[in-house]
Amino acid sequence: MISGKKYITFSFDDGTTQDIRLVELLNKYNIKATFNINSQLLGMSGEVIREGKSIPHDKVPADSVRSIYQGHEIAAHTLTHPLLTALEDKEIVRQVEQDRLYLSELAGYEVLGMAYPCGGINYDKRVANLVKTQTGIRYSRTIECNEAFAPQTDLYTFHPTVHHNSWNAMEKLSEQFFNTQSDNPQIFYIWGHSFEFDVQNTWNRFENFLKQIANKPDVVYATNRDVLLNNINDESRTISH
Ligand SMILES: [Zn+2]
Repeated sequence: MISGKKYITFSFDDGTTQDIRLVELLNKYNIKATFNINSQLLGMSGEVIREGKSIPHDKVPADSVRSIYQGHEIAAHTLTHPLLTALEDKEIVRQVEQDRLYLSELAGYEVLGMAYPCGGINYDKRVANLVKTQTGIRYSRTIECNEAFAPQTDLYTFHPTVHHNSWNAMEKLSEQFFNTQSDNPQIFYIWGHSFEFDVQNTWNRFENFLKQIANKPDVVYATNRDVLLNNINDESRTISH
């Protein structure tokens, strides 16, 4: 274990076309992210209503997945975004493993990561255990922000630090993160959706945040996979993309 190392990682769900703009922003600041994708919804168009506004919710096309997310991590989010806790075991395994295998083909490498889809209580012990024992997934993110940086032992219920729409909390946490001195690795893990930046047009605000946290000499900017599976548990491996 690399003691005292600091990691910043991002996780964005649903694979909507706003990801293209987001990847450009992240690349500008050398920041890495993981994108959790529903492979059976790729190419579909849609919209979501947020704060009374219609926001485009078009999914990126399957044949562009590899190029759009080049340099970042592609991860599973189930085939069609169902609430997994409501499904039978067999269907949970199918939703996760088939998504993982299809995305692996599109990505050109084996997909190992996942984020549980839907809001509310979107996983439980049964779901997490099926993902762990019956699929090739090696870690899965929840939507329960813990506002903490400490390494977590259960990678199948990995809790993010904060959602990017909690602007004040996120900015305060980033100060805390940079001021923390610890003998243990520290992980600042931010999650959300790129289409949410369209709701109040917070793209510039998010870019300012990226600018503030970027290019710190004592911080490693890496995908979820590199932080959770490689860097912390096996210091002999280098960051791979
Ligand atoms: Zn989702």
